[in-house]
Amino acid sequence: MITTQICPTCKGPFYRTVYIPKANGKRRRIEIPCPELMAAQRNFLQHEKLTGIGAGPYAFGCVLGKSAVDMARMHAGRNRRYVIRFDLKDAFHNVRPSHLLDVLRFERFTTEEIERRMEIPDWVAEGALSKYRYPRGMFSLIFAEREGGYPPYAAMGAPTSPYMLNLALKEVDFKAAKALRNFGPEDARYSRYVDDIVVSSEGAQAIVLVKKVIIPLFEKHDFKINRAKTKVMRNKSGRQSVVGVMVNDMTTLEYSKRNKLRGWMHRVYMMLLTGKNEKEEEVDFDPEGYIWHEMRKLNGFIDGWTQAAAPEHWKKIREKWNAICIVGKSRFPSGANPSGSGRPWLNPILVEGDSR
Ligand SMILES: [Zn+2]
Repeated sequence: MITTQICPTCKGPFYRTVYIPKANGKRRRIEIPCPELMAAQRNFLQHEKLTGIGAGPYAFGCVLGKSAVDMARMHAGRNRRYVIRFDLKDAFHNVRPSHLLDVLRFERFTTEEIERRMEIPDWVAEGALSKYRYPRGMFSLIFAEREGGYPPYAAMGAPTSPYMLNLALKEVDFKAAKALRNFGPEDARYSRYVDDIVVSSEGAQAIVLVKKVIIPLFEKHDFKINRAKTKVMRNKSGRQSVVGVMVNDMTTLEYSKRNKLRGWMHRVYMMLLTGKNEKEEEVDFDPEGYIWHEMRKLNGFIDGWTQAAAPEHWKKIREKWNAICIVGKSRFPSGANPSGSGRPWLNPILVEGDSR
């Protein structure tokens, strides 16, 4: 997939594509918007917070005021004997403008109201992208066009995309929760963290409902599922993980240490990806600036990290670190190297048996 829009201000493409290797050997494609587009998308999100529609009660990822821990708590408890998980394949790339129209109808917006929402508002028309033509109205700002006549999609690096995904799946979330309520075990619970869906229940009927009703709901809305990766976990011993949080073992020291590292890495990664810190302030990408030093500290902390150091989590840690290195490299001037000249651009995390 190649995106086709060109920015009238910086004259570069609206999206720059980088590939990040995943632990399973495949690559994840991320399209990073140019600074003007990213700023406009972020502005759009701010406006949406005031006038837009929410993600609904079942979405936990990228929702203000909710966290992975909240979602894990929802499924915690000894009596929840079954935890069923599945995830969506390439979720962002399946978000289409039609999904946004559908959710607006689901929210009972009238045709006129929907048309008004698609118009280019003044703050866009007079902003840094005032020269852009917006052939699809507001959709041009939040969806990436691609070659070959395929529908536009939500780019992975756009700050608007997690919000778009949450909206695109809102109706599915409601229908899935309703199916569980109507036909499932009474205590069954449904939740979604970005592209990761978790259902927990006391009774085994929930497994059938997930496979025969809930997964087909996603497929009907054009989202693909890794069916082979659907997991049913039986809660016997009391060790279970929901979106990376151990629900039955949330107090161990080991967990909190790992979590601290992952939280730290995620913070740095998000700053690199979005160009903003948690307080929504611009990040300075000068060599020797704040983020540069954060990367350096992190580099020192995980230097030489091996599989033995965190057997269950090293894949994820390694994956995240590699992503930081790749996105980080694209952010700084070429030749700038936080590990010092003549060395690799930050240190790779080692697989057991690797050598540097
Ligand atoms: Zn630009």
